[in-house]
Amino acid sequence: MNLNNFNINNFNNLGLNKKLLKIIYNIGYKIPTEIQIKCIPLFLKGKDILAIAKTGSGKTASFVLPILNNININNNLQVLILSPTRELVIQIYNFFNLFIKYLKNIKILSLYGGQNYNIEFNNLKKKPNIVIATPGRLLDHINKKTLYLTDIKILVIDEADEMLHMGFINDVKMIIKNIKVLHQTALFSATMSFHIYKITKNIMNNPKEIILNKNKINLNIFQYFCFVNPKFKVNILINFLETEIFDRLIIFVKTKDFSSKLSFLLEKRGYLSSALNGDMNQNLREKIVLNFRKGLINILVATDIASRGLDISNVNLIINYDLPYNVNSYIHRIGRTGRADNIGKAILFLERKDLKFLNLINRKFNNSIKRINLPNLNTLLNIRFNKILDLIKNNFYKNSYILNFYKKFLNKIINSLNEKEIFDIALSLLILFYEKNFSKISYKDLSKINYRW
Ligand code: ADP
Ligand code: MG
Repeated sequence: MNLNNFNINNFNNLGLNKKLLKIIYNIGYKIPTEIQIKCIPLFLKGKDILAIAKTGSGKTASFVLPILNNININNNLQVLILSPTRELVIQIYNFFNLFIKYLKNIKILSLYGGQNYNIEFNNLKKKPNIVIATPGRLLDHINKKTLYLTDIKILVIDEADEMLHMGFINDVKMIIKNIKVLHQTALFSATMSFHIYKITKNIMNNPKEIILNKNKINLNIFQYFCFVNPKFKVNILINFLETEIFDRLIIFVKTKDFSSKLSFLLEKRGYLSSALNGDMNQNLREKIVLNFRKGLINILVATDIASRGLDISNVNLIINYDLPYNVNSYIHRIGRTGRADNIGKAILFLERKDLKFLNLINRKFNNSIKRINLPNLNTLLNIRFNKILDLIKNNFYKNSYILNFYKKFLNKIINSLNEKEIFDIALSLLILFYEKNFSKISYKDLSKINYRW
């Protein structure tokens, strides 16, 4: 069968061993994704690879599976995987473990900033076969001589364009310098600028390029923008939270400080929200991502540290509250939804001054980003009244024992009143109920305000 033809509809023909195939089917994967079909056979042959495929298309398994297939457990550290954020290191580590728990004797270790050094020292002494790391912490270990890259046979750089960009490139170069032996290099990303593409040539040997969906839009994500007046941004956001239906939502903001402030505001209003930013201590960061995965919170107010690679199920709404830094950042942010075969929605808040950015991304996405109106007061009131109606009804039917008591009481009141008085009392009760539940929400119809730009 021709491996370049991606009609192959199972994992059997990619060159993976039987044991691994069994595990793959055990964890529920039936059909390999296009990037997996193209990448795995080449990876198994030891080729250098540059793989570009859209967010959520299964790039992780494209390197995890061939690594596990080819690994020699008698050797020392032979596989190094680099990733830009701690959260992503942990995610890749956990992904490996899905498979490794069925495979004996493969030792794997994650190294990242904020983690206790002593734990890492001890784990390094156990001679892991695979290390997944953020570049800074890896270099710390190299400098402390607690880790050597001398036997590395495979180097994988996930989110490669970010890793070869200004913030990381020097660290990555230094790390590569420490790998003395000839090794296989594989780079993965959803985005790649021409400038970075040229740099990839310097760190690879005659690489095979697998570039999928070039300039194609991610059809799983429905993209919208709306115009917002900066003065009312928070209120507009809260209105959207009332009108949009979502399981999990990530709100992207520009600064660490504001992510905490905004999340605090939402928490005060009763939303199950947490901030996620680089100022938080590592334990907290890990706990928050875990709580979000578990559904203990369903809103994450994050800076761009959450924009790359995170794969969390049921994130079906992304709100770009603040403008992303560039088009690629936008692509990665919205790529936290619509993963694998799921559908997602992304809403971008725009101010007048951001029109240029809208043009940029619209060009990238073939003008598929549609304008949506801000939630109007009528819709909001309807939603709220339905909520109130639900609350009232539920309270009625729950407690039948007390219900009889109140029924008698109410009958007494009703008998002594005329129709208008009864209506007035019901009205007062409704207002009380509404104010109790929605008192902090303004009555202004934000969708009708004419913004003076
Ligand atoms: P990428 O790195 O390309 O953004 P991931 O590797 O994080 O994407 O994969 C996205 C999601 O798709 C993950 O939840 C992963 O478990 C799932 N996935 C990957 N490959 C398959 C497959 N062959 N069948 C079903 N689900 C898959
Ligand atoms: Mg990824």
